[in-house]
Amino acid sequence: MIKHYFSNILSGDGWQQDLLMTVDPSGRISALAEGSAADADYSHSGYAVPGMANVHSHAFQRAMAGLAEVSGEQADSFWSWRNVMYSFLGEINPDQLQAIASQLYVEMLKAGFTSVGEFHYLHNDINGQAFSDRAEMSKSIVAAAQETSIGLTLLPVLYQYSGFGAAEPKAQQYRFTQSLDQFVMLIDELQKRAGVVPGMNVGVAPHSLRAVDPESLAELMNSIPKSMPCHIHIAEQMREVTDCQNWSGQRPVEWLSNNVELSNRWCLIHATHVLAEEVASVAQSGAVVGLCPITEANLGDGIFPAGDFMNRGGKIALGSDSNILVSLAEECRLLEYGQRLTLQSRNILGSMNTSTGEQIFTQAVSGGHQALGRPGNAGLEIGGRGSFAILDPKHPAIIGKPTRAIIDSWLFAGDNSVVKDVAIDGKLVVVDGHHSAEEAILNRFGTVMAELVASL
Ligand SMILES: [Zn+2]
Repeated sequence: MIKHYFSNILSGDGWQQDLLMTVDPSGRISALAEGSAADADYSHSGYAVPGMANVHSHAFQRAMAGLAEVSGEQADSFWSWRNVMYSFLGEINPDQLQAIASQLYVEMLKAGFTSVGEFHYLHNDINGQAFSDRAEMSKSIVAAAQETSIGLTLLPVLYQYSGFGAAEPKAQQYRFTQSLDQFVMLIDELQKRAGVVPGMNVGVAPHSLRAVDPESLAELMNSIPKSMPCHIHIAEQMREVTDCQNWSGQRPVEWLSNNVELSNRWCLIHATHVLAEEVASVAQSGAVVGLCPITEANLGDGIFPAGDFMNRGGKIALGSDSNILVSLAEECRLLEYGQRLTLQSRNILGSMNTSTGEQIFTQAVSGGHQALGRPGNAGLEIGGRGSFAILDPKHPAIIGKPTRAIIDSWLFAGDNSVVKDVAIDGKLVVVDGHHSAEEAILNRFGTVMAELVASL
């Protein structure tokens, strides 16, 4: 048993003071009641908040952050960025992937993310051939999660085609492709691994409607357990919308709503370009929309109508996607600011007389853990997991503020440096802004960066 005392804690009942939390050896909260610091193993004078789920990450892309910010001869777009990304990923081997992912996961933990949904599509070797162990690249992701202690929802990606109508994959996409049968075998193997790796579970990710055909999607949904999380990229770019309309006569979210049973197992990543009726149908389905505001801004995707969606009871979650910048505060802030700039108004995602930041944060904690199939992580309550972050009460953005403004002060006026300590299942993995393995992980990442940049 590990006992933590909190001066201030954001539990399912809002802010509470002077609580003692007992976390059992399995990482679950077995007691949460009034208590004193004298009875605790650890005493936290800051502000405790639930750990955040990061529902959408492509770990290897962290290594190309900052390498695609120079304009070319033609107008730049998501599609020209994708060409840079393809040339970069052509070189990455399993050891390099682990080095990059470990660095990324340390950064996520230090930002306040305690679990990550890794949308993992780099399955084959640099020549596009399958490894003798089909889980070779997946194992690098698992090892990075174990090395850093972040909770991992591994979302292996089914990727078959280069475009709508089953267009043959391009040569640069051979690292992603496999048959549906091979993919289902990979899922089976990873589920067995998840049974022995603490903090790991498995979902599936049909990449997008352009990369998976309807028959395979239907067969996949029939081949996996009914409760398994299912994530898909959808309607990120207008070209994807028009291509989908040319192919099917329907918009991507419209097609998905009409052809799969959308429910709370689904996470629709981006869903940027939607009409009001699509917003309403997703909100009603119980599916989560996984928003990645920093990446969506960086790639020039557009802005999802999050205010309308949340007003209809829609569930949101946050993802760092391309990992161009890892910042929980900035993701929340940019989500709200995108709405403000579009609607020329303020406090769009809050409800009447409540903290906007707190509303975004708690909704994203709840929706994020639903999307990752980790409902026990969604709040600091008895029976849930003891995973939390402590905000520094002496940080300039926080000091002297009333409790009701702490989350707003972190998200709108602060950054990662507000996050002081982070615990996973009751165990502190970040202390005073420092992860115990971060120096070794950074050194290894530096070596890999030099190798990758030299090969560009
Ligand atoms: Zn993505």
